[in-house]
Parts: sequence; C-alpha cells; structure tokens
Amino acid sequence: MALIWNPAAETLPRREREALQLARLRETLGWSRERVAFYRERLDTAELRSLDDLTELPFTRKTDLREHYPFGLLAVPLAEVARVHASSGTKGKPTVVGYTAGDLDVWREVMARVMVAAGGRPGDLLQIAFGYGLFTGGLGFHDGAERIGMTVVPASSGNTARQGLLLRDLRPAGLAATPSFALHIAETLAEQGTPADTLGLRYGMFGAEPWTDEMRRSLERAFGCPAFDIYGLSEIIGPGVAGECEARDGLHVADDHFLPEIVDPATGAALPPGVQGELVITTLTKRALPMIRYRTGDVTMLALEPCRCGRTSARIARLKGRSDDMLIIRGVNVYPSEIEAALLGVEGLLPHYQLVVDRRATLARLEIQVEPAPSLVEPGGNLEPEHPAVLALRRDVAARLRSALGLGVEVTLVPPRTIPRSEGKAIRVIERT
Ligand SMILES: [Zn+2]
Repeated sequence: MALIWNPAAETLPRREREALQLARLRETLGWSRERVAFYRERLDTAELRSLDDLTELPFTRKTDLREHYPFGLLAVPLAEVARVHASSGTKGKPTVVGYTAGDLDVWREVMARVMVAAGGRPGDLLQIAFGYGLFTGGLGFHDGAERIGMTVVPASSGNTARQGLLLRDLRPAGLAATPSFALHIAETLAEQGTPADTLGLRYGMFGAEPWTDEMRRSLERAFGCPAFDIYGLSEIIGPGVAGECEARDGLHVADDHFLPEIVDPATGAALPPGVQGELVITTLTKRALPMIRYRTGDVTMLALEPCRCGRTSARIARLKGRSDDMLIIRGVNVYPSEIEAALLGVEGLLPHYQLVVDRRATLARLEIQVEPAPSLVEPGGNLEPEHPAVLALRRDVAARLRSALGLGVEVTLVPPRTIPRSEGKAIRVIERT
C-alpha cells in the first residue's frame, strides 16, 4: 500500500468518521454561537441530532466575510491570532482570514497528507513556485513540506528564468505551482535547450486555478512526471482541503477537518453523491475563523466509497470551475474548463489560450485565441494566415469547439508568445463591455 501520512485519520472507517464529524460539528456550532455575533444571530441553540440536520442551517457566503471586513467574524481575540492571510478580491477589498497557532497546526497536518499522497517524502527537495505572502499558496506548501521533513526551495512565484535555473541546477524531486505557470517554466526551459522532462522530477503538485485532465496530460508530457491536483481556499484554510492520491480518482477531502456537502447552486438544496453541484464546506476544527456551510462557488461532485489507495475520506471530482467563472454566451452556459478540454486535445496547438468575450454588440461574441506549435510558424516567427496548414488548424479547432460547447465561436490563431504567460494564476478571460 502507498504511504499514508496519518493512517489513523485517513483510513478511519466511515461510521467512526461520521461520529467524529458529528461530535466536532456540534463543538464548532457551540464555539461559533458563543463567540461570533454573526453566528449567534443566525444559528438557533437546538443540538444537531445527525449530520443530515446540517442542511437546515443557513449558508455563509463570501459577501458575509466582506461585510465583516476585516476581523468581524473572528471567534478569538486578535491577540490569539497567530497569522492572517488574505485572498485577492477580484473586486474591491480582499478577504482577510485568521489562524490560531492550533489552526496553523491543522493546516500543516492536512498539507502533509495531500503532499505525501502526491508522492512527497521526507528528504525530498521541493521547489515551491507559489507566491509567498498574503496568498495562502506559498506558505501553505512551505509549512506542509517542513512538517513532512522535505527540503524546501522557497522560490515563490514569478521570475521564470530563475525558476528554470533552480530546476536545472538543484534537481528537486517535486515542483509546486499553478498549472499555467508550470507550463510557462517548461516552455522557457525548452527554449533554452533543456527540455523539462530531462530534469528528473518525480511529481508536480498543482492548484490554485481550475485545470483539466487535458492540461494534466500537457504538464505530464512537459515534465515527464505525474501531475497531482491539490485544492483549497483561504476561507476554509488554504491549500490542503483536498488532494489527489496515486489513484487520481478524485481528490481526498480532509473531512475530519472540513465537512463537504454538494448543493444545487440555484436553490441551495442538498444533492446526493455523484450529482454535480456547488461545493459547500463546514470547518470542524478551526478556532479563529470557523465557517458554517461556506459556499465555495466551486462546481464538483462527491464520492463517499473508499478509494483503492486505502483512504476512506470523501472525495470530490476535479473541479469544473467556479460557478462565477461560468460565461453565458448567447444563452449557452460555458465553462472555460470545457474550452480548455477541447483545445488541449488538438495536435498543432500550444497549451496556451485566452478567451475574449465581447459584450458590446447585442449578442455577445466569444473569440478564442490560440497559438500554433512552432512547426507551423515560419522562421522569423511569422504566421501566414492563409497557409493551408494554418487554415486547416483553425477549422479543426472551430469544429471541436462547436461540438464541445454547442456554440459557434471565433477562433484566432495568434503568433507565438502573443498570449500572456502566467507567473501565478492565469487570466483566461478578457471581457470587453
Ligand atoms: Zn485514494
């Protein structure tokens, strides 16, 4: 059997797991009612009889965090908060989250679980190319790696050339990064004459943006090692909420700490395992910032049966994207991940793309910009738009997108390096309004 970081917790039989969840849930509700006015006003004092009763409780949303910015939802005095992080608010103020020393310990523990599940071992060198700072990515991976006993290379995000140099010279066992940044690093290395699949990496740990199985294949081809999905969000704890094991059949949720549910995004009604909906999480052990039924906005589904790796925790399917990433184009719902899945299977395209949504006309137009592989580009970097190979590629891409989305879209082939490369989270969609 594969190595499991915390066998007692990770292979706990379901009945015992649910008993533990119920006890911790009751404790969390009591703790929150007692200490946070927001929860006191919303939660009545009746004790939950079973986990199913959770569905009776009101949701907590990102707007609640914004309305109580910065510290209004804390359940401990600020002096007991050991660290704060913040998520970059797409609009306006960031969301500030706090951790007690005990919360940071839980975070290290759950990060250690997902990193060991992805192949991390004591003594391995790990290059962390997630941003360090208020963003939870860098320090989350850093603390988890130290807990395991790995050797950390805290490269942080950005500085693509330096990332490549470190990979080449230090030869880490693993790389942790956003998938889009990792591809950018691989591309830069290849241009410099060192294909990334010759570096001897044993695993890549990727997250912080939704990515498809097609993107996984691109990453695995580029680096010559398996790519693992690690999920999290700062409102719950940061990365480490869930992660893939070697079976890569869904992401194991640390559900002794974070209780997952799936609800209908429109009505809020609970949905059974195997049905796609919005992920809702209740923290079970967090002290500084307990979250009761937090609407993550992420679209996925649950599986409760044990995994062949031996872990018994609930699993979530790979994310389809955030419900607020969904584009509505001429009445058709489109997830950027569906476009990615269709594009990355096309021979002759580089794994970089950008969506331009033009809403200035009466009917919104969706343009998809893609870059052809270097073999289709003339020396000097020019792209001959009327070249038969270029025309055929554009037709092929448009046809695939039409069948994947049920929608006609405009495909533009752009010269190499036109699409901005990400050094952190990729910006896939540009809206013109
Ligand atoms: Zn598993």
